[in-house]
Amino acid sequence: MGDLPNRPVAIRNTWKAVVDHARTYQDFTYVYPVVSRRSRGLSIGVNLNPDKQCNFDCVYCEVDRTTPGRAREVRLDQVRDELRWLIDHALSGGLGREPKFSDTPPEVARIVRDVAFSGDGEPTMVSNFDVCVEVVADVLREKGLSETKIVLITDSAGLDKASVRRGLALMDAHHGEVWAKLDAGTEDYYRHINRSSVRFDRILGNLLETARVRPIVIQSLFLKTHGQPMPPSELEAYCRRLNQIREGGGTVREVHAYTLARPTPEPWATRLSPDELSELAGTIRSRTGLRVEEFP
Ligand code: SF4
Repeated sequence: MGDLPNRPVAIRNTWKAVVDHARTYQDFTYVYPVVSRRSRGLSIGVNLNPDKQCNFDCVYCEVDRTTPGRAREVRLDQVRDELRWLIDHALSGGLGREPKFSDTPPEVARIVRDVAFSGDGEPTMVSNFDVCVEVVADVLREKGLSETKIVLITDSAGLDKASVRRGLALMDAHHGEVWAKLDAGTEDYYRHINRSSVRFDRILGNLLETARVRPIVIQSLFLKTHGQPMPPSELEAYCRRLNQIREGGGTVREVHAYTLARPTPEPWATRLSPDELSELAGTIRSRTGLRVEEFP
């Protein structure tokens, strides 16, 4: 591994491992590999929600909830074994030789850029998030990957739970990053897009409290519903929310602005064109001064 450059490479949308974002791998329950534009390379996902539990019901969600989930309890030994095996497989070049990775440059499939808690639901809904982080950190240390990031991709509803706070503190000690969803600026639009019974205030409070302790990344999916993009007044409200985090003493490291990559179960939810996304990202930059990365 030492001879491989651990630097970002341009990830192509057309690579099979980018197009196919399946959260399944062989007969594994929890761990899966993806090549991710936002991770800028190979990300090993840890799906803590094979039960498909989520406290959001986003209009763009790709999780198939028409079929039942599995494994209500997270079996930590199995997470550990699957993660060990997949890391070894990637580092040895085995992953890169699989058909799904045949058009991915071999060095991309051999460099684990992050291990990300992300799956068929909301990772912070598990009761022992802190122990799950500990398992991942142990395996990374054991494999000589102590510098590899641990990422939590979250809807933020559970960031105020005690076990999650402990888990975040552990992540802070292991190059942790919180990638937190924010798709709206008002309660109404939040209910329209994320369809959650969790109050928007709680999400905003959790974002602020989390961003006060460490810089966070905001992930925002912008789309059209019934042919209409986010209204200008909503975009202004969204930008105000970002500014309120800074004014409240929090730090947003950057914003990931993206749109739908694949068709959604709701046919009235459709993607923005690259120009539309770019215009919107420009507005966010000018209203907030934040770095905004576009993922059209
Ligand atoms: S937060 Fe994620 S898993 Fe939950 S409904 Fe939204 S897109 Fe689906």
